[in-house]
Amino acid sequence: MSSNPVHKIPAAHPVPAGHARGPAHEPSRRAIALFGGTFDPIHAGHLAVAHAAQRRFHLDAIYFIPSARPPHKSRSELTLFVHRYTMVALACAEHRGFFPSLAEAPVDSASSHVFYTVDTVRRFRREHPDDHLYFIVGADQFLELPTWKSYEALLDLCDFVIASRPGFRIDALRLVVPPDKLARGAADGNKIALRKSAIHLLTTVNSHVSSTEVRERLQQKKSIHSLVPPRVEEYILGQALYR
Ligand code: ATP
Repeated sequence: MSSNPVHKIPAAHPVPAGHARGPAHEPSRRAIALFGGTFDPIHAGHLAVAHAAQRRFHLDAIYFIPSARPPHKSRSELTLFVHRYTMVALACAEHRGFFPSLAEAPVDSASSHVFYTVDTVRRFRREHPDDHLYFIVGADQFLELPTWKSYEALLDLCDFVIASRPGFRIDALRLVVPPDKLARGAADGNKIALRKSAIHLLTTVNSHVSSTEVRERLQQKKSIHSLVPPRVEEYILGQALYR
């Protein structure tokens, strides 16, 4: 990523009066979140999650990281990276503090390289050793954590923000955390303290939208208005994607 100039971080986000940043938010320490996904396409649910996280953690920057090749989805199902990235960039352009990231862009023409979250988070951690790093993930994905590469090491690398998603029980999330990772006196409401990091539950998001629904509606020639940002809708229709 050091060769990738898109990861310049803006100055620390001003904190509104009455909102203390707390120890994690000394003036020079920025709060950065990574939001990985397939984004095929990006939709209103992703943006609702990002907004809620931005507000709650006073995030200076959220990097949306479309994956050229995520471990759990087969290549043939995915829309070309360039389209997915463009849609992410169009959506981010409308929001302060939202940035598209090329951290998981294709590395070769065959796009055979599989990207693992632990490697991406390590790269950001190396580049931003002093900043507070969060990884945003939906409850459905976090429940799969034990299948992720080096997930125990990943839990030590950054804080996690887990967004609620209709149909997924937020209390089940605690069960996927290995007991030896838990700090003593571990849980308080929406936070699970780990030995080296923390898991924050974002329970205020309740969006039913999914990329699957957007794709299916397009195949059925139904409107996707309000399911994706207007510029993304325009792009999808203009490029005749998901037909
Ligand atoms: P698909 O329907 O193709 O499986 P998706 O809608 O889940 O896609 P992804 O790009 O795979 O979208 O998701 C990226 C991240 O955003 C994941 O961690 C996922 O759990 C989370 N996410 C997606 N939609 C929502 C939603 N409506 N509410 C909360 N989290 C969400």
